[in-house]
Amino acid sequence: MTTEVKKPSHEVLKQAAEIIMQSGVVGVPTETVYGLAANAYDEKACAAIFAAKGRPQDNPLIIHISDLEMLERSARDIPPLAYTLAEHFWSGPLTMIFKKKDIVPYTTSGGLDTVAVRMPDNEDTLNLIKLCGVPLAAPSANLSGSPSPTSADHVFEDMNGRIPLIIDGGECKAGVESTVVCFTEDGGIKILRPGVITAEQLSRFADVVTDKNVFLKPDEREKVISPGVKYKHYSPKAEIIIVEAENENSFASFVNQNKDNGVYAVTFGNESGIELPAIPYGESAEEQAHNLFAVLRQTDELGAKRAYVRCPEKQGVGAAVYNRLLRAAAFRVIKV
Ligand code: AMP
Ligand code: MG
Repeated sequence: MTTEVKKPSHEVLKQAAEIIMQSGVVGVPTETVYGLAANAYDEKACAAIFAAKGRPQDNPLIIHISDLEMLERSARDIPPLAYTLAEHFWSGPLTMIFKKKDIVPYTTSGGLDTVAVRMPDNEDTLNLIKLCGVPLAAPSANLSGSPSPTSADHVFEDMNGRIPLIIDGGECKAGVESTVVCFTEDGGIKILRPGVITAEQLSRFADVVTDKNVFLKPDEREKVISPGVKYKHYSPKAEIIIVEAENENSFASFVNQNKDNGVYAVTFGNESGIELPAIPYGESAEEQAHNLFAVLRQTDELGAKRAYVRCPEKQGVGAAVYNRLLRAAAFRVIKV
């Protein structure tokens, strides 16, 4: 199969909708990362997503909607709090988990009785969903295990020959996947995966707890609520090591002791005296979220064998960056 990469236009969106309505898969831009989109109600199409990514079958897909009618067609027992959150955060990077209706096949939900739903903040993709008239299931458009794609070039690197079309909507704004939440029995919100919509923002609407697996290495035998968290994830070929340093000087002196061929430092960019090749990923958590996956891919392009990454903050948007980095690093953290 040849893979075309096209800028969005009405014609291109119509072509994409035709592919999708014939059970095909298309690479689409969103404000978080690029997605691999297919008809969420079509079992065969969703099976094609898993095949293209090489994704484990029990890792559920998020379905992307363009209006609340699509939410109500797909989910039942929707709590009033969900409508409040939808009003404040949709279109945007917030995914909510509901009990699923029968129209959502188990292939899409990874065998669960629940379904994850969000409305993406990207005009072209919203128009594509409207043209299709059904929600689009869309996981990140990378090969399973590798860093999520934040540009059409990244999607092409992973999906060339596997899907017919990638819509090139430029670089993704946020750069990390959506915040995933579920609703607790006592009327609260539980964060299953942090994103750029933070616990602090959500806590204006209800009590917020963060699932312990967000920052912990899950026990292999444990049944996790959000299956995606159990896989080693987002990893480039280089060995990633997180360095939790008191300040820029302690970071610099640690990495300088570990100079070697093929060893890189991923820095905030404000450090001085770093003697090994440095790749800056930003001083603010927002910049770090935006750049993280591109920087991880860059370590591969450079043929890095190891990269020491300066640890981000663990609060606010930094929580999303740290959560992805932990998995990219297979939970290797050094405190200096
Ligand atoms: P990705 O498609 O790469 O953004 O990953 C989607 C992630 O959302 C999954 O790996 C899960 O962690 C989470 N998710 C999707 N559907 C559900 C669900 N029904 N229940 C809990 N978590 C879900
Ligand atoms: Mg993913």
